[in-house]
Amino acid sequence: MSVLMKGADVANAMKEVLINKVEALKEEGTVPCLTIVRVGNRPDDLAYERGAKKRMEMTGITCRVLELPEKITQSEFEEEFRKVNDDPAVHGILLFRPLPKQLDEEPIKAMIHPEKDMDCMSPVNVAKVFAGDETGYAPCTAEAVMEMLDYYDIDPKGKNVTVVGRSMVVGKPLSMMLLKRHATITVCHTRTVNLMEICRGAEILVAAAGKARMITADMVGEGAVVADVGINVDEAGNLCGDVDFDAVEPKASYISPVPRGVGSITTSVLAKHVVRAAERASGK
Ligand code: NDP
Repeated sequence: MSVLMKGADVANAMKEVLINKVEALKEEGTVPCLTIVRVGNRPDDLAYERGAKKRMEMTGITCRVLELPEKITQSEFEEEFRKVNDDPAVHGILLFRPLPKQLDEEPIKAMIHPEKDMDCMSPVNVAKVFAGDETGYAPCTAEAVMEMLDYYDIDPKGKNVTVVGRSMVVGKPLSMMLLKRHATITVCHTRTVNLMEICRGAEILVAAAGKARMITADMVGEGAVVADVGINVDEAGNLCGDVDFDAVEPKASYISPVPRGVGSITTSVLAKHVVRAAERASGK
């Protein structure tokens, strides 16, 4: 019987801490403020936006949305983005990506003030994550996995950890964060040979490949901790993770479900980043 790592439990624990911090900031006259920048109306963005707004509201953080038309030009976009970036009342910015094809992300990555960059777009924050410098902002989803492990007292120090996936949003930064915490990391991807053996040898296995139920029971060692980052829709139209939950659960010591796992913590990490940015802006 494994322990179910529930995202809501982690998020609730984070909420208590954040509410106190927000109250302290407000007493000193600072209202933490996040601006979400959305171009167009992609359903994924809208769903995330609803979750983020709810989380910010719960914590006492002001959440604004800058909604821009799908067909906006690069110069118009940069002009709008600059206004938010330079607004002293805005402590944090979340830009939904990917952007429409006509927009080039690179100048925006260079433009965003690193101290307002809540989801690790800026090369400054990327470099900090890779250098093991925790003064920047890591990608929210990667940090959500760390929050989950911490909440359940799972110390990666000295453990064999396998991360399946090497994207800049999840796999790579998470690997660096785990390395910073003294884990021995193996990062797997589509060209990995012997994926099954490598996964089976992991004491902590993180699945972030975006392939429905690809982690089967024979890929998981007895007693492993299994964190599932994947969000997929299976052939039947159901939401599922990268882990074949029903088959893997009996072998795992800890396992996170999908939905209601890692994904439920991401907006709490976003709120944590906004609070930290507001604290810094107010000189704390
Ligand atoms: P990407 O598609 O950018 O990256 C997927 C990675 O997994 C790649 O490195 C790829 O390897 C690797 N991979 C894919 N298939 C296999 C396979 N069969 N075997 C081994 N490796 C494989 O995805 P993201 O990192 O953006 O997202 C990963 C998952 O996490 C998705 O399901 C996504 O929906 C979810 N996600 C959840 C979030 C949340 O909870 N809020 C936020 C962000 C993502 P290669 O590099 O060789 O192509």
